[in-house]
Amino acid sequence: MAYVITRLCTDCKDTACADVCPVECIYDYKGDNHSKFANQLFINPDECIDCTNCEPACPWKAIFEEDEVPAVFKDDIEIGRAIVDEIGDFEVATVVKDHSPTAEQVAANFAKYGYKP
Ligand code: SF4
Ligand code: SF4
Repeated sequence: MAYVITRLCTDCKDTACADVCPVECIYDYKGDNHSKFANQLFINPDECIDCTNCEPACPWKAIFEEDEVPAVFKDDIEIGRAIVDEIGDFEVATVVKDHSPTAEQVAANFAKYGYKP
């Protein structure tokens, strides 16, 4: 089992998760197939040790334990697994932590994907 970053991270990428990951298993995509891998960070499920640090650290509430990924984001589990086969196109995320969203921004991001917590 591993933690999963969902599409709620798309275009957010503030890297708060990477800042607290003890095993540097959170990656940024450097390839050009953006129809497959969105502009977000990804957890390598083979390297995640389930420490739980990242889930509460995410200001966009984009991270879930695999068994708890909401139905609307279930496809993101497979996309996360797909990075393992293409890991050469990924680099460990560099921590920048450049912004924190307001509660209204987080709610608007949920609504964008039809997610109702
Ligand atoms: S903390 Fe959340 S929104 Fe920020 S990069 Fe990580 S998963 Fe994405
Ligand atoms: S659960 Fe821990 S090891 Fe896994 S991605 Fe999050 S911070 Fe890293």
